[in-house]
Amino acid sequence: MEIKLYNTLSRRKEAFKPLNKGAVSMYHCGPTVYDTPHIGNYRTFILNDLIRRTFEYNGYKVDQAMNITDVDDKTIRRSREEKVPLKELTGKYEKLFLEETEKLNILRPTHLIRATEYIPPMIELVSTLIDRGVAYKASDGVYVSIDKVKNYGSLAGLDLSHGSHERIANDEYDKENARDFAVWKFKTADDGDVAWDAPFGAGRPGWHIECSAMAMKILGTTIDIHTGGMDLIFPHHTNEIAQSESATGQTFVHYWLHGAFMNVSEEKMAKSKNNFLKLSDLLDESISPLGYRYWLLTAHYRSPVNFSFEAVRAAQTALIRLLQLIGSYPEGGSVSVDYQKRFNESINDDLNIPQAVALAWELIKDSNVNDADKRATLIDFDRVFGLKFESAPRVEEEEIPEEVKVLAEAREEARQAKDWKKADALRKEIEARGFAVKDETGGFKLRSA
Ligand SMILES: [Zn+2]
Repeated sequence: MEIKLYNTLSRRKEAFKPLNKGAVSMYHCGPTVYDTPHIGNYRTFILNDLIRRTFEYNGYKVDQAMNITDVDDKTIRRSREEKVPLKELTGKYEKLFLEETEKLNILRPTHLIRATEYIPPMIELVSTLIDRGVAYKASDGVYVSIDKVKNYGSLAGLDLSHGSHERIANDEYDKENARDFAVWKFKTADDGDVAWDAPFGAGRPGWHIECSAMAMKILGTTIDIHTGGMDLIFPHHTNEIAQSESATGQTFVHYWLHGAFMNVSEEKMAKSKNNFLKLSDLLDESISPLGYRYWLLTAHYRSPVNFSFEAVRAAQTALIRLLQLIGSYPEGGSVSVDYQKRFNESINDDLNIPQAVALAWELIKDSNVNDADKRATLIDFDRVFGLKFESAPRVEEEEIPEEVKVLAEAREEARQAKDWKKADALRKEIEARGFAVKDETGGFKLRSA
């Protein structure tokens, strides 16, 4: 079945055509490990997971790489502020990130790679850009001359008619400041011992070159899909395209997918705005990571969502109900072909997961499908949802024979009359039939022994 994806490059939905039949290569910009991620960051990582699961559901072999940014302006600044070695700081937050993604049931990417372990390919890429006359040496680093880049800024819809040769050393800046950007930053006192030797001068990579070098090293010069949050379209992804395509002369990425933000009171959730929440803040409010995941599945990835505890709590209640129902359905059913087809159509339509969630509820209410088949079909859907349907606690409705119930009632009457001898004899009769009776406040409970 055809998969349609909204490509930021063309600004429309396109039918997906892989480079290699039956396979998909994708690169995700990963976390910068200098602090605890906020729940808005996880929206993007859950999107990556949903893309992967959608392709796997369609039978594709997925080759997926995600980087861990463990050296850049932010990590170095934080390590200096906290007076801890860079590796110690980034190691701590990488571990936390991996623990939290596991709680969110995000599958581990097939390649999870640290920037500091890919410095040689970054140096090689910078050398190539210098050789090709695209990058030049300045006093504080090596810069890409955006005038030398073919179609610079097309991903972000930039119109660059000014032809400036101003430079920007920071990794993050806005469109109004589009100018020559740093691919290599020469060693400074502030960087401490964070530096590597290079033919063009000792220093460290810029953030943008890291992703270009790692993506191409792992997945090849041209890859199928590249993802990230919408805030990465400029300058990060714009500069990745500039670096990679100037160096290879090939198309870097065929499909660019970007996830929308999460807002709090109509404002983007961000570290810099100090309006962010962590996964642990949700747990303090009795919201589980999977309850949060379910909530995200109910909004399309290209629509901004507005966070509120009420909304997420309502989603969690729905998830609990769903799990209770699945737990009560008998095993051994088969997947409904009709529902599976409709599910596949939804997810293949630019990941219309909200529609797929609505379909799950439609199935539950459908009296023409038996409960065992409902269970099997929902567990099939969960290959994409990732909500752990299969481990929903079993709610067993045990069949108790009528005669055992009668014996138990008689025993209860004897107990009320304090006829302990008779009650004991009846208990033995119940046990002889393979059942156990347990006294509870206001009555008793029967179960198989
Ligand atoms: Zn990146």
